[in-house]
Amino acid sequence: MSLTRFCIRYRTYFLIILAELTTAIYMSATSSDLVKLATVYISLKESRRTLRGRCPFHRDAGESLMISPEKNIFKCFGCGKEGGPAEFKLAMEQLIKS
Ligand SMILES: [Zn+2]
Repeated sequence: MSLTRFCIRYRTYFLIILAELTTAIYMSATSSDLVKLATVYISLKESRRTLRGRCPFHRDAGESLMISPEKNIFKCFGCGKEGGPAEFKLAMEQLIKS
């Protein structure tokens, strides 16, 4: 097989890989880091693989809010609120408005 034929044959794959790489780079640049976002509003303490903090969405006596930096998600064991950076931001905005 000549190089030209090889290139033509695999061009589609190259383009797909290139497109996926571009998307991955774009996503990492635009998606917000939940830990960075949350620390603007609350202080977080490290506990094993997660971060814990006082939940801003309900009257939290302890530290019910758990953030996983690995998965970029949060969950509150007090009020049940959970999600990613977008949900956190939205809930925070609603809290500020009310
Ligand atoms: Zn809560």
